[in-house]
Amino acid sequence: MLVDLVLRNARLMHQNTLVDIAIKGGRIVGLQPNIRCDAVEEEDLQGHLAFPGFVDSHIHLDKACILDRCSICAGTLEEAVRETSKAKAGFSEHDVYERASAVVRQAIVHGTTRMRTFVEIDPRAGMRSFEAIKRVRQHFSFAIDIQICAFAQEGLTNEPETEQMLEEALSTGADLIGGCPYTDPRPEEHIRRIFMLAKKHDVDVDFHLDFSLDPAKTDLPSVIEATRANGYEGRVTIGHVTNISALDVTARTKLALKIAQAGIALTVLPATDLFLMGRDHPTNTPRGIAPAHLLLAEGVQAAIATNNILNPFTPFGDASLARMANLYANVMQLSRDSDIDNVFEMVSTRPAALMRMDYGLCIGAPADIVVLNATDHRTAIRTVAPALAGWKRGRKTFAREQPKIFERVNG
Ligand SMILES: [Zn+2]
Repeated sequence: MLVDLVLRNARLMHQNTLVDIAIKGGRIVGLQPNIRCDAVEEEDLQGHLAFPGFVDSHIHLDKACILDRCSICAGTLEEAVRETSKAKAGFSEHDVYERASAVVRQAIVHGTTRMRTFVEIDPRAGMRSFEAIKRVRQHFSFAIDIQICAFAQEGLTNEPETEQMLEEALSTGADLIGGCPYTDPRPEEHIRRIFMLAKKHDVDVDFHLDFSLDPAKTDLPSVIEATRANGYEGRVTIGHVTNISALDVTARTKLALKIAQAGIALTVLPATDLFLMGRDHPTNTPRGIAPAHLLLAEGVQAAIATNNILNPFTPFGDASLARMANLYANVMQLSRDSDIDNVFEMVSTRPAALMRMDYGLCIGAPADIVVLNATDHRTAIRTVAPALAGWKRGRKTFAREQPKIFERVNG
């Protein structure tokens, strides 16, 4: 057998024996120990973990890396929306393209192969950010699959033009629609209109939702009802929902069952939630992150994602999902292997399922492979293991040189 590429000595998830991965025509054609074949190219993975790459189900490429244009005083959600809104009016297509490209390059070298980015579309952003992100999606398609979510960050009923602009985006390349009921003076109507647009264009929906620590202040029942009424089970995701962190166990379990039964998925954004929540608690500050790993037990689909990078929502970030998963596990006080397994799934298989993207390392699958500097996925999370190399459809997309250390022989 002549193949294009064979990757020797790969460690797969939950397997002790090392395997070789043979690739032909961009697909995996062999997956077993010691494959005998002629290959145009060969590489030894030296027992490192190989998997199909991290999946970031919630990131904002359009407003990343704008810290120098904003001032953060209170560190609250309101301030972040206000400051970003001001900066957004000054975005040019070139500017968004350059900042977003820099973040996507970081994501690629951190081993991300699939991503859902929100793009704000409203009278201030115009269609400039959207046009830029479409070009970014095209340019980086050799390494990463990007879904674009046309997003109404600053309300819909208060700015009727936004609705027409979202409609235009959905007709010209957006993959799905995103709403944000908490910034709209009429949250229920906002939800209704987002579903109306989604149905019209037959696209999935992703809401920013219940971003506070007050369980009484919730738009979730309206989203559950609309999901059912529109037959959208399995097509709706909600992000943040930080008020779940304030519920007691009984209330949380009840709510989790309702979310699961409606087929709604949850994305938690630890870096942003930690930064923005609990500002009115100067001592014993709550963590304010929805405990997604506990909701999995009730059947909720859930993911951990990046959200924002270097802006008033999150003045940190490097687009590394290994780091984000580690942050989540640390903040949630997780230690058991089974919990770390869940955390790894929440940055890989689960967000891929939520985004309804193909994902898997098996014979016949596209050869999308990322190698981490760890021998297993738990160590990868515990140590924030760097990605060493990646391939998409059998073509190498990046490689990271291992650092060298020059120790004294006789110290
Ligand atoms: Zn977000």
